[in-house]
Amino acid sequence: MNFECYLQAGKIAAQVREGARRKYYVGSTLFEICESVEAQIRSMNGQPAFPVNTSLNEIAAHYTAEPNDATVVKEGDVLKIDIGVHVDGYIADTAVTVCYDAKYESLVKAAETALGEAVRMARANTKASDIGRVIEGTIVKFGFRPIQNLSGHSLKQYTIHAGKSIPNIWTIGSSFTLLANEAYAIEPFVTTKDGQGVVHEGKTRNIFGITSRKPIKDKEADNLLELMWTRFRTLPFALRWLTDKYEEKDLRRLVDILAKKRNVHAYPILVEGRGKIVAQAEHTLIPTDSVVNVITL
Ligand code: MN
Ligand code: MN
Repeated sequence: MNFECYLQAGKIAAQVREGARRKYYVGSTLFEICESVEAQIRSMNGQPAFPVNTSLNEIAAHYTAEPNDATVVKEGDVLKIDIGVHVDGYIADTAVTVCYDAKYESLVKAAETALGEAVRMARANTKASDIGRVIEGTIVKFGFRPIQNLSGHSLKQYTIHAGKSIPNIWTIGSSFTLLANEAYAIEPFVTTKDGQGVVHEGKTRNIFGITSRKPIKDKEADNLLELMWTRFRTLPFALRWLTDKYEEKDLRRLVDILAKKRNVHAYPILVEGRGKIVAQAEHTLIPTDSVVNVITL
């Protein structure tokens, strides 16, 4: 555990997130947003821990811009910008929901308030299930529903989802308690009362990760796999991050081959079950024996 690296990653992530919160994105393409946020991270000497997620409306998570993605942010859109920064593999994970229609203000406020309450109670030895109860209670008080199959998570060096889940709902049964000097992301997702409160996998897949480095004896595909490993190791990546070396159509063909051979996993977007709007807020924190460091504050 390198606390200094975590603090540095957190500081960069927080600054970039606040910049995104203040910006007016209507008329911008998702490609422009992803590329500019990632460029800011790099300019501050951090590395993106995953492609910036720009998930619109009923898409709760896991959408990043395709190469030259022309999707434009419109007036009434609800856009979740989820940012990961790593310094030497130590990851800060944070998110903000932006929208420019007063209609969705309280949905965003519910996610932010639930996150605030969760962060306020989290310390070493806090039960994860108690955090879930507070998140759910806060969201319900606003008259909304939490997304029950999305959760926060522990983080480890070069690993975003390190095995432990911090629920967004009250769950019975056994739970774990937060450990001192372990990093956790807490991330409430909120939808409206007429939503299902559950996400399903969508058809679109534009975030990838290496699952095996075993060569498949296709020279072109194996070369790409090697480049992916050199650049991203175990961290997720986007096709946008490889178009400096490959034509888009070759890249898609080769990634397809690697996905079929199970060397590369393609993550599906996650969509609200009844197509309702979703808001999200997220911080990363590290409890110690005496205090809690919210590194993305
Ligand atoms: Mn995140
Ligand atoms: Mn996260």
